[in-house]
Amino acid sequence: MRKQIVAGNWKMNNDLAQTETLITELKKQIQTSKAEVMIAPVFTNLWPSFQALRKHDIEVIAQNMHFADSGAYTGEVGPGMLLSVGIKTVILGHSERRAYFNETDEILAKKVDAALKHGMRIIFCFGEELNDRKSGNHESVVENQIKNALFHLDGKAFENIVLAYEPVWAIGTGETASPEQAQEMHAFIRKTLSGNYSDAIANSVSILYGGSVKPSNAREIFSKPDVDGGLIGGASLEAKDFFAIVNAI
Ligand code: PEP
Repeated sequence: MRKQIVAGNWKMNNDLAQTETLITELKKQIQTSKAEVMIAPVFTNLWPSFQALRKHDIEVIAQNMHFADSGAYTGEVGPGMLLSVGIKTVILGHSERRAYFNETDEILAKKVDAALKHGMRIIFCFGEELNDRKSGNHESVVENQIKNALFHLDGKAFENIVLAYEPVWAIGTGETASPEQAQEMHAFIRKTLSGNYSDAIANSVSILYGGSVKPSNAREIFSKPDVDGGLIGGASLEAKDFFAIVNAI
């Protein structure tokens, strides 16, 4: 079902003490919200974060996972391991994973299958680079990223998939896609889903926007009809800013 969601991607920030401090601050800021609220700390802090927030309306989610259940994959973490520490949602396909860790559409398709096999929910990220936007290829790039990693799935799988459009040129740069650019792409994504599946599926999937969302621009971006919330990087590291964004829904 289509929901409004604000998820904080902490990336590789915050050791245990800093995580505890930020969670204490987040608990002070929690108000009843229309949005589902999530945070994604680093792997080592998932369990303490889950314990600290289990009675609060903030879901703790993972930033990544491997597709295998277990085995000779040094340094990796599998889906069952995440579930065993209370984590039921995972971000897949973040542009930093694609750029710095060579995650291809093929690898992402395997990760998607593994997460779904384990009954996990996915926040699936994709987005074009600046060159694609400048040359007018942004829609075809996004369409291919979605098709290659997701369109082997049956329609029912989309009950457990949230999409996150994150133009690479807007991530951590202070450069935001205009609300109109975000709306245009989100509408295009829904049209793509509708063409390959159905209107019902296209209208039931939550599509988040990510890329330099801040308290000052969140309300306008979230007001667009096809934008169902945001994936927030930098601004999720400050409890006040993060909740100002949550409350902009
Ligand atoms: C992100 O990492 O997903 C992100 C959107 O980062 P930022 O908000 O810092 O641009």
